[in-house]
Amino acid sequence: MEKDPVCGMEVDPKKSAGQSEYKGETYYFCSPVCKKKFDSNPEQYTRK
Ligand SMILES: [Zn+2]
Repeated sequence: MEKDPVCGMEVDPKKSAGQSEYKGETYYFCSPVCKKKFDSNPEQYTRK
């Protein structure tokens, strides 16, 4: 399982609603809404 960086939900990569690559990492999302939020501001969601 991968973690949706936007909402923190666990996401099965095979069933994810979408994925994005950012700085060489792949992120998976529970819904298109989360993907859209991530794509508009990836820096905010990848900050540790
Ligand atoms: Zn989500």
